[in-house]
Amino acid sequence: MTTTLSQPEITFVDALTERCDSCGAAAKLEVTLASGGVLAFCGHHAQRHASELAKVATRFTAEDGFDWTAKVPAV
Ligand SMILES: [Zn+2]
Repeated sequence: MTTTLSQPEITFVDALTERCDSCGAAAKLEVTLASGGVLAFCGHHAQRHASELAKVATRFTAEDGFDWTAKVPAV
């Protein structure tokens, strides 16, 4: 049994202005990395990278209504 030291904070906003870094679609999720960088993903790519993002992110900013928490696997 291990304890997670820091869980990413999730904030919801009305709308994101970023574009997906992978495909250029409107971003549904913005990810702040432990390294200080910021990535943006559409719903499709947020879901595809969910398990990896959960390991490296310190903060998520999701568009209101985007059910991101359901896509993050329990760690
Ligand atoms: Zn995308």
